[in-house]
Amino acid sequence: MGLVRSLARRAPTVGARLPMMNPESPGASAFGRTCGTCTLCCKLMEITELQKPVGSWCKLCKPGKGCSVYSDRPTECRTFHCLWLVGEEQLSSDWKPDRSKMVLVSSNDGRGLEIRCDTGFPHAWKKEPYYSQIMEWAARGRLAGDGYVIVLVGKSSTLVAPEGEFPLGEIHHDERIVSEFRGNRLVAARVVHKDDL
Ligand code: SF4
Ligand code: SF4
Repeated sequence: MGLVRSLARRAPTVGARLPMMNPESPGASAFGRTCGTCTLCCKLMEITELQKPVGSWCKLCKPGKGCSVYSDRPTECRTFHCLWLVGEEQLSSDWKPDRSKMVLVSSNDGRGLEIRCDTGFPHAWKKEPYYSQIMEWAARGRLAGDGYVIVLVGKSSTLVAPEGEFPLGEIHHDERIVSEFRGNRLVAARVVHKDDL
């Protein structure tokens, strides 16, 4: 096993917390994008203040229309902005979540890209133009050093790497991803409790 090196990564986060809303125009990002008819994060993200689990619609959401308690919505909702909304350059209109069926967020450690797929469209990320772009991000993350891409469908996670896909199952907040390399090639990935690292 001398040729194998291991790399521990933090588990995926609950969502991006990016303070980039435009105060002049509530609901619009600082880059001028708006959610419009998209409400997908109200289904895909966990909202701890409401005890809303991943992958089920918030009871306060009117899908395709918006939040029924918008002015009184929880802090978690106020501070959440997906990467498409904040205007990531590479994310064209194809990536608008209600079109792509995916919500993209940054991981807590800032090195990971989390692609959260609508459970009603679990294979959306395998379609084009998405899959090629996802593989390009995975390759670029590797070149940058420790960048990584995770696809989540409900609670089920898959590490996407230039070498292929590594199913990881559910990852809890106190767990970490351990990647095993042989030389520069990723050969395995698994989830371990952080105390077992
Ligand atoms: S997923 Fe993004 S674009 Fe869609 S409602 Fe949520 S923040 Fe807005
Ligand atoms: S409270 Fe409103 S913004 Fe928050 S998840 Fe529910 S519907 Fe969406």
